[in-house]
Amino acid sequence: MQRSVSIVVPVYNERENIDELVARTVAVGQQLGRPWELVLVDDGSRDGSSERLLELARQHAGLVKALLLNRNYGQHNAILCGFSHAQGDMMITLDADLQNPPEEIPRLVAAIDAGADVVGTVRLHRQDSVFRRLSSLLVNNVVRLTTGVMMSDYGCMLRAYRRRVVEAMLACRERSTFIPVLANMFAKRTAEIEVRHAERTRGESKYSLFKLVNLQFDLLTCMTTTPLRLLSYAGGAIAAAAVGFGALLLVLRIFFGAAWAGEGVFTLFALLFFFVGAQFVAMGLLGEYVGRIHADVRERPRYIVDSVGGETMGETNSGLPSSTRATGSREFR
Ligand code: UDP
Ligand code: MG
Repeated sequence: MQRSVSIVVPVYNERENIDELVARTVAVGQQLGRPWELVLVDDGSRDGSSERLLELARQHAGLVKALLLNRNYGQHNAILCGFSHAQGDMMITLDADLQNPPEEIPRLVAAIDAGADVVGTVRLHRQDSVFRRLSSLLVNNVVRLTTGVMMSDYGCMLRAYRRRVVEAMLACRERSTFIPVLANMFAKRTAEIEVRHAERTRGESKYSLFKLVNLQFDLLTCMTTTPLRLLSYAGGAIAAAAVGFGALLLVLRIFFGAAWAGEGVFTLFALLFFFVGAQFVAMGLLGEYVGRIHADVRERPRYIVDSVGGETMGETNSGLPSSTRATGSREFR
């Protein structure tokens, strides 16, 4: 069976790029030789992109769909909106600024066909500023260490996801998220391929330094609550050091007398540090609760049933669960 393909593109003030984007993507889509669609999500553009997208959707009726959001909600929310309106068996995301060449799409499709749940990409000869490349290097390493998923480039949004992974992501209730990291939580087999990367030739990056920093916080909180736990560890270490310091002071005081220890000033320090440490431990404890509340409100699916073998107690099972397609399907728990 040939899997259908949805290509989802978030668009924010990309008027100069969308004509070429749609032309090139449609050309690639036609060569896929299977059902496909292009879903363009306008993330509250103010430069006329919205009208142009509607126009393009009319021109390519049956292949291109435009969804206009009423204001700017951010790239990842725009993509999620696209996902929830896309119908393909696999979904491919890419940027509208043509930094990700649409011509790479067939290779991502092939990787999903070969059995991957999620396909990540590595940008060959990345065409971005040194600052962007260095910060990506840092972030990618931190993500790799904390998640243990060995993907090299989380920043590149040219990616492919199998439908069931997308549905699991849509079933999550969290408001701030980082799609590539979230997807890995629901993927058994991940693949990674190298893709070309182009310079942004028209328009400018939509990420100011402030937005970039915010995005990194989304990434961090989407992935782990470990920083909250670190508070307890740091507090424990500080308190333990303070106790050691106190004991040392006591011993030295016995041998050298009170004058040596500044008449008790250092003892005060030891006490102070002990309480500072205890406060950190208390905050860490609060953090444990907050972390659990955070996990609960997100309502991430606990698991996804891939397939079922056998029938018991008179039920009629056709091998695969009745449908993992409908969102909110009972296969997510
Ligand atoms: N984008 C979006 N909403 C935003 C910011 C960006 O939909 O609030 C889109 C943007 O139109 C582009 C993609 O996300 O298609 C990546 O943005 P950009 O190229 O500016 O990011 P960079 O390549 O600098 O990381
Ligand atoms: Mg870009």
